[in-house]
Amino acid sequence: MKNINKITIKTKKALSANDYFNGIKKGNRAILSKAITLIESTSFQHQKIAEKLIELCLPFSGRSVRIGVTGIPGVGKSTFIEALGIYLIDKKNKKVAVLAIDPSSKKSGGSILGDKTRMNKLSINDNAFIRPSPSSGALGGVAKATRETTILCEAAGYDTILIETVGVGQSEIEVKSMVDFFLLLMIAGAGDELQGIKRGIMEIADAVIINKADGENIHNTKLAIQEYKNALHLFPANKNGWIPKTASCSAIESKNIDTTWDIIESFVNHTTINNSFLENRKEQAKFWLEHTINSSLTTLFYTDKNITIKLKIFEKKVMQGEISPFKAAKELMEIFKS
Ligand code: GDP
Repeated sequence: MKNINKITIKTKKALSANDYFNGIKKGNRAILSKAITLIESTSFQHQKIAEKLIELCLPFSGRSVRIGVTGIPGVGKSTFIEALGIYLIDKKNKKVAVLAIDPSSKKSGGSILGDKTRMNKLSINDNAFIRPSPSSGALGGVAKATRETTILCEAAGYDTILIETVGVGQSEIEVKSMVDFFLLLMIAGAGDELQGIKRGIMEIADAVIINKADGENIHNTKLAIQEYKNALHLFPANKNGWIPKTASCSAIESKNIDTTWDIIESFVNHTTINNSFLENRKEQAKFWLEHTINSSLTTLFYTDKNITIKLKIFEKKVMQGEISPFKAAKELMEIFKS
């Protein structure tokens, strides 16, 4: 198998969408990696192949559980993902893909999994595939690239997709819209337990898992669990009837990782039985359709030659009170449509 990979990669001839598809279907990770790079590329030629490839993969996608993992830096996301990944591969016979999303990070080039060494054991496991966050320059944005990468990974046979995101802002909402289960990782701390994380993020979590429940921290963790349970109770019930769960684990000692997985499994059972699992995916597809149309229209508008010239003039007029912002916008739209 290794030799075949080498030969395919070494040939200079560009691979066709079908070549990529066949490689992906065979579970060839080198081809999968190259295909993802294609998705992230801004080259028109690459995008054309990528589009065709996604079409080919789409019928073989969707058969996985997609899990978002968020939490502030240092909470133990990488350690947790590695522990969960190894547990799923060893004990549950799963194939695990780990993707990262970090649209806010322009400075670092948007790579929160950049140093793969953070997941030493998982990165060398044959049943795992780890992909760092695409750079923020990826065509159509990081979220689009991550969604499309998910499709390719599913076609390659990965049945558990873990999407890591830093818990600091807007990226959570985007990740929530591309996963089935959203897990918030926290640590028990002194003082206000709810500090450091936005209330909005807790509201969209399907489970709050308190990590680092080991050593002297065990007592604090028990208190924190109670506190989060109380906090989660204050939120309105989910449409899918799921009541968010709270539990603790020690990622570094691989303790209680099975408890977290049990929660995820019971969520999948619950939402499959009441059909909200598929409903949610349909809603997500609709969301991304609208989202993509909106961002494409905005790009079209602001890159229109007529608009770029006229926009400056109208801006000035609006600021000087010569025309209302609404009338200006309406006139600009007329110019755009003409
Ligand atoms: P991330 O920034 O959220 O990805 O966090 P990391 O996984 O890089 O972990 C941050 C630090 O916390 C590292 O020094 C880890 O060794 C440590 N850590 C992670 N999980 C645990 C845990 O369960 N218990 C303890 N005591 N330390 C942990």
